[in-house]
Amino acid sequence: MTSDLPSTASLPSQLDIWQETLAWQPTPAQQDQFQTLYAYILDANQHVNLTRITEPLDFWEKHLWDSLRGVGMGLANAAPARVMDVGTGAGFPGLPLAIARPDWDLTLLDSTRKKIDVVQAALPLLELTNVIPMVGRVETLGHLPTHREQYDWVLVRAVASVATCAEYALPLVKLGGQVVLYRGQWTVEEEQQLQAVARQLGGAIAQVDAFETPITQGVRHSIYLTKVAATPAAYPRAVGIPKQQPLLA
Ligand code: SAM
Repeated sequence: MTSDLPSTASLPSQLDIWQETLAWQPTPAQQDQFQTLYAYILDANQHVNLTRITEPLDFWEKHLWDSLRGVGMGLANAAPARVMDVGTGAGFPGLPLAIARPDWDLTLLDSTRKKIDVVQAALPLLELTNVIPMVGRVETLGHLPTHREQYDWVLVRAVASVATCAEYALPLVKLGGQVVLYRGQWTVEEEQQLQAVARQLGGAIAQVDAFETPITQGVRHSIYLTKVAATPAAYPRAVGIPKQQPLLA
């Protein structure tokens, strides 16, 4: 893989950790793609405010590992899938997943054009052909027939409160498909609220996967919601409303 990016410190490979935590390891070509992604994000970060996580081990843990660990064993085991990353920012978790699973089709959505321009420009450098970057509000896409109930997986990392994220994500997922909410701390109150809100949106909590990050032992939870019924047509509500007035339990 060739590029004109400035030279950057090398990311650690951590093959043993990948294997232990995900029963998966990147190939040498995928490790090269991770390195290119790292160099690219550091470079782009000088022009657009993308991330404060810039040290190699930190980037490996909090962007690469965290993005992939969020989907758990689905990373190694799930069939080819149509996946939406809502509020992808600089492409997390979508870009690491596109590298790890070239057989998945990923739509990376963000409402900020500058961020999607960054994602778009990364694709040729990473030689990725399985990513569709898209500028838009999820509240709008959730009502378009080309997106509503079209995805096997919908992923949401660091975008809003759980009730807001559920309203963003559940309309997009197919019946029987799954939403993964990437969270840090997780409380009983949040779980009770989400259980009730998910029900209003046609979803149910299937699993709460608690784990720690492998280098700094940060607390993480992946909340898996299964779509068990069609989402009522009223959801998602108009642009801005899911965030300003989150659904109540
Ligand atoms: N998921 C990335 C990550 O974990 O690094 C980025 C997180 S960033 C804190 C949240 C992103 O969500 C922002 O880039 C913002 O533009 C986007 N966003 C927030 N609300 C949105 C909406 N309603 N529709 C689409 N994107 C949205």
